Amino acid sequence: MSMTLKQLTAEYKKIGDFINTRWPLKNKEQRIFARTMKVVEELGELSDEILTSMNLQRESKIAKFSQENVEDELADVMASVVLLATELEIDLDQVMEKKIRFTRERFEINSDS
Ligand SMILES: [Mg+2]
Repeated sequence: MSMTLKQLTAEYKKIGDFINTRWPLKNKEQRIFARTMKVVEELGELSDEILTSMNLQRESKIAKFSQENVEDELADVMASVVLLATELEIDLDQVMEKKIRFTRERFEINSDS
């Protein structure tokens, strides 16, 4: 399965709506706060997995298993950022396009390279 950022955002919009219905918070401010804390929490879990995999990398079997955990936690970080963007009513597709343009110009990177 391959998806665009627009499709990913649309999927997480549905998941966000479900979360907000299942675990309702008092207002938008609280939801933004909760989503922000979730990004920090997931980033902590990803850091933990990366540090663990670095300690265990000599044991190839364990390293392979921990690679899966790193992938899983990286996906959680991405998901939590997408959910935060939705709550902040930020169009990720638009802001990322703008950011890529800015970075390309800053480092003089060709758009076709
Ligand atoms: Mg996680």
